[in-house]
Formats: sequence, C-alpha cells, structure tokens
Amino acid sequence: MRIDKFLSNMGFGSRKEVKVLLKSKAVEVNGTMVKDPKIHVNETADTVSVDGEPVQYKKHIYLMMNKPQGVVSATEDNYDQTVVDLLGEQERHFGPFPVGRLDKDTEGLLLLTNDGQLAHELLSPKKHVDKTYFAKINGIVTDEDGESFRSGVMLDDGYVTKPAQLKILVSGPMSEIELTITEGKFHQVKRMFQSVGKEVVYLKRLSMGPLQLDQKLGLGQYRPLTEQELELLT
Ligand code: URA
Repeated sequence: MRIDKFLSNMGFGSRKEVKVLLKSKAVEVNGTMVKDPKIHVNETADTVSVDGEPVQYKKHIYLMMNKPQGVVSATEDNYDQTVVDLLGEQERHFGPFPVGRLDKDTEGLLLLTNDGQLAHELLSPKKHVDKTYFAKINGIVTDEDGESFRSGVMLDDGYVTKPAQLKILVSGPMSEIELTITEGKFHQVKRMFQSVGKEVVYLKRLSMGPLQLDQKLGLGQYRPLTEQELELLT
C-alpha cells in the first residue's frame, strides 16, 4: 500500500495532510526517512514511524454512531444521504458498512465496521443478540401489550415474534416505552405495535448486545469503539 494511503488510513489526516507530514521529514520506514508519498510499504512487515513513534497497523475499523433521522443505513443510495456519507474521509478509506439496518426515520445506536465476520456474528439469527429501543407510541400502552410481546405477536405477514420484553415508562395518550427484542425483522418494532393496534411515532435504538449508545454522541456523531467495548463484542 502507498505510504500516503497507509498513514491516512491510520488516522494521520487526508492524503494532502499526509503529504505535508512527509515533507516535514517526520516519517520513517524501517528507520529510513521517507518523503515520497508514492513509496509502497508492506503494512504488516514494515515498521512505519511518525515523529519516532511506531504506527500500529490496524485493518479493521469499529465505529459507534448516533444515527439521525433522514439518513439511510446503507453504503450508497441514489436518493438519500447514507450513514457512510456522514463519516470523514479517513474512516471511509476502510470501507465501513452498517451492521444491520435502522429505518430512515429511526435514530440511535448503529455500529459501522469493515469486519465482515463480526457483522455476521452480530446479525446471525442463531446468536439472538438483544436490541433495546426507546419509542414513543400513539396510544395507551398497557401491561397486556407487555404480555402479548412476551408470548409473541403475529405480524402482518403471519410471522410470530420471539419473546420480547416491554418496559412501560409512560402510559398515556402518548406512551413512552423500552422494548427489547432478539430478532431483526423488517420494521419489527413498528409492526409489533401495529399488531396491538398502536403506532410508533418515534424510535431510537439504545443498545445492541453489550454495546450501549454513548449519550455524549449527538445525532450524526460517531466515535471508535473503545478496546473494552470491542472486547465485549468479540
Ligand atoms: N424496528 C423498526 O421498526 N425499525 C427500526 O429501525 C428498527 C427496529
């Protein structure tokens, strides 16, 4: 891989910024100063250092995003802005994709990675990864709804959902709830409420398995997973 791409991928700025860094004589490959952005390095065998500090090569990227409404959980789209469009150039170099989908009008926790194996494991129906959502519901949510969700409800296509846990935070004409499901059927939370005659008017994912949405992330913001979060996931 070219040294400018390598350093850009490892977080040293855009290709342009890396070019400036190289010019400033800050970069060494196996102890020899390099200034040419076109030089190729073997990212696993060569030792690249910046200002004397070795640069640890990483192949994968793991990002937590607080997805805003109005963007689609995809890498490309002809009409809408995607969650990948919200990332910086440095992150996009890694080729990240969203792990699963949140609807265009759903907010909250979305994991983006280029680690296909981890994505596969988190999405595998066999793994039953819990997902907890906060929702505002048009209608009075009752304990009976909770019982229905615990035993499984029939969606509009005849599918019967696996047991889900409902926590009622506010019960009124506009209720507020948390719902934990272990599956990821299309529009599942909305369709579960539809099956008990109620409408989801706001939906936000709070957690996915052991991963909790960082409350400090504003809508559209993202950050890398911490070592600890990554360890919990793998
Ligand atoms: N359930 C939904 O209905 N929508 C989502 O985005 C996620 C779960």
